[in-house]
Amino acid sequence: MNYDDNNIFAKILKGEIPCKKIYEDNFILSFYDISPKKKIHALVIPKGKYTDLDHFSSNASAEEIVGLIKGINTVAKKLGISVDTGKGYRALSNISEHGGQEVPHLHFHLFGGEKIGKMVE
Ligand code: AMP
Repeated sequence: MNYDDNNIFAKILKGEIPCKKIYEDNFILSFYDISPKKKIHALVIPKGKYTDLDHFSSNASAEEIVGLIKGINTVAKKLGISVDTGKGYRALSNISEHGGQEVPHLHFHLFGGEKIGKMVE
């Protein structure tokens, strides 16, 4: 799939629409999901133009890959849900059609603050 420059997360990255920012560095932006499914529901997105995790894994630089994985940990710590600051969380990325992905810019959902429950309905 070609990257759509006008997807909602691209617009957030460009500052065209607002978000409730949690954390930002050279590689990632993290903000609260607009429609939280759990007590804590954050999103972590890379700054690069990647549609999904497969696109990212195949094309991103090693630096970008490290930046995203480390960024998830940084955000989890900041939210007090990481293993060392809290009780853990679930990181989830929906990929394309069968994964149920709605926004075509790679993102990880971080669910925490309570037991997350069943892995898949
Ligand atoms: P997915 O189905 O994995 O693509 O998830 C997309 C997520 O983006 C959903 O959980 C939405 O609630 C969330 N979302 C959509 N628009 C916004 C927005 N403007 N700000 C924050 N989260 C959003």
